[in-house]
Amino acid sequence: MPSYAYFQKNFMPLEEAKVGVMTHFLHYGTGIFEGIRANWNAKKKQAFIFRLQEHIERLANGCKVLNIKLPLTVDQICQKAVELIAMCGFEEDVYLRPLAYTSSANLGVRLHNIDHDFLMFAFPWGPYLDKDKVHCGVSSWHRPEDNVNPPQVKSTGIYINNALAKTEAINNGYDEAICLSPAGHVSEGSGENIFLVAKGKLLTPAPYNNILIGITRNSVMELAKNELGVETVERSISRAELYFADECFLTGTAAHVTPVSEIDHRKVGNGEIGPITAKLQEIYAKVIRGDHPKYMQWCTPVTKK
Ligand code: PMP
Repeated sequence: MPSYAYFQKNFMPLEEAKVGVMTHFLHYGTGIFEGIRANWNAKKKQAFIFRLQEHIERLANGCKVLNIKLPLTVDQICQKAVELIAMCGFEEDVYLRPLAYTSSANLGVRLHNIDHDFLMFAFPWGPYLDKDKVHCGVSSWHRPEDNVNPPQVKSTGIYINNALAKTEAINNGYDEAICLSPAGHVSEGSGENIFLVAKGKLLTPAPYNNILIGITRNSVMELAKNELGVETVERSISRAELYFADECFLTGTAAHVTPVSEIDHRKVGNGEIGPITAKLQEIYAKVIRGDHPKYMQWCTPVTKK
């Protein structure tokens, strides 16, 4: 099944969408991207794009920070995304990657006096942290300070920090990194937000702890409150609290809700998937696939062309 791209205002086969070697963003990391999933529902024979609008709004906000002028409105990008997924026609889980970037073939570090473009492509992508439960290690790489490279902005350039943390974690025998903030508080994984369960409540780092404000994070907080009656406290979390927690899990578009069973070689709780984590995983899996009637407003259905 061929993948398609939306590139330079046209849909085309993915392999035909190419940028030149002098393209500005390739050199300076001056792009804003998103990671979105279209989840395949085999019973309904339909894909559902999860929280498309919110992802594109986050992209548009990031573009404001980088001075990038999107050639399409948020609504127009959402429509193009639906068209693209429909065109690809995959009967499996698909990952959608929009990217807005400085597009001039004209080097020199800057965000002014430069052209911009927007592209998007889709490809089949299954589970990201492909394990029932993962081992994490606290990284020697901290998240950047807001006035260094704002972590709330999903810019391509900031992902050097994430890649350093991820590879360090893998080289040290872990599945994923947990990065601390510049102040030394728990921040997030290399591609996920982090939650702890302590005394029956959810705890997660606050936006001021140098995190990307995840859409899965928000979804899980809503689901915990509405479906389990569990509140989430957003606050600074110390490293030691990671070791005290009863349960821990990571959230992200790619990673869904992934239980963490060990941190820095210490078992989280008894090292098994905790009850709150398991319930949230189960509810979230239904919600993103368009199988939970209460949350259909989060799902954009796509009908194959
Ligand atoms: N933090 C980072 C650093 C990420 O890359 C991601 C993935 N986009 C997340 C958190 C989770 O965000 P979301 O739930 O919106 O995918």
